[in-house]
Amino acid sequence: MKYALVTGGSRGIGRSICVQLSQMGIPVLINYQSNDAAAQEVLHTILSNRGSAELLKFNVGIEQEASAALDNWEHNHPDDYIAYLINNAGIRRDSLMFMMPEQDWHDVINTSLNGFYYVTRKVLPKMMMKRHGGHIINIASLSGLKGMPGQTNYSAAKAALIGATKALAQEVASRNVTVNAVAPGFIESDMTKDLPMDELKKMIPMNRFGKPEEVAALVGFLCSGAADYITGEVISINGGLYS
Ligand code: NAP
Repeated sequence: MKYALVTGGSRGIGRSICVQLSQMGIPVLINYQSNDAAAQEVLHTILSNRGSAELLKFNVGIEQEASAALDNWEHNHPDDYIAYLINNAGIRRDSLMFMMPEQDWHDVINTSLNGFYYVTRKVLPKMMMKRHGGHIINIASLSGLKGMPGQTNYSAAKAALIGATKALAQEVASRNVTVNAVAPGFIESDMTKDLPMDELKKMIPMNRFGKPEEVAALVGFLCSGAADYITGEVISINGGLYS
């Protein structure tokens, strides 16, 4: 059986991706870090719509935790493998560079970039084995493409994730594995709820924030057979804000 692993699947964009993939008939592993109630809600939503899902709680930024959880899952699922990996877990810790606490620099890089490394390295061998194949989608950001003031840590993490996407895509293409990045602009979620939406909307040609389901639909397409020849790409979804 081919599973999807969605990191940061308990809320926001990750939650919508879990629901989207389960609607496509893919069993989903919902990863999250701490919000048990939110994760249970996603699980319940999927199961009550006749989908298949399991919770897989671990901090993507702690190598031992990620490894132990994935080893344990593999042990309990000897005939299954993760064929769809959505590296979505991410955090913001915004401040101007000259005032940025060192911890905020490391925490943001650790979650988005090291988390990608720890989880992808574990999942890749089974995807590559016997050219089973797979799809890896990294949730980057507009900030990683253009840079956003007040977000040097976040922009650096997401730009690095884009570089890693392009490099890895070339490494594993012959093994039938695609690697792409999705770069959202402003999307309605807990991550953006403290932002001045009315002010920011004025900069967006479509005059609104995107919805998590709109990002999830794009991820669904990249996980479908229709996208099998797309790899190493960064696809923006930002209402025309930047391209
Ligand atoms: P969100 O609503 O804040 O949700 C974040 C999710 O990530 C939660 O499920 C959270 O789990 C999980 N998470 C955070 N740190 C984690 C860790 N160390 N290990 C495992 N899970 C962790 O964020 P979002 O807006 O949906 O953003 C999702 C992704 O899209 C992020 O990578 C973000 O950078 C990117 N993005 C968002 C926007 C936007 O406008 N919202 C724009 C561009 C890119 P818990 O529930 O357990 O805390």
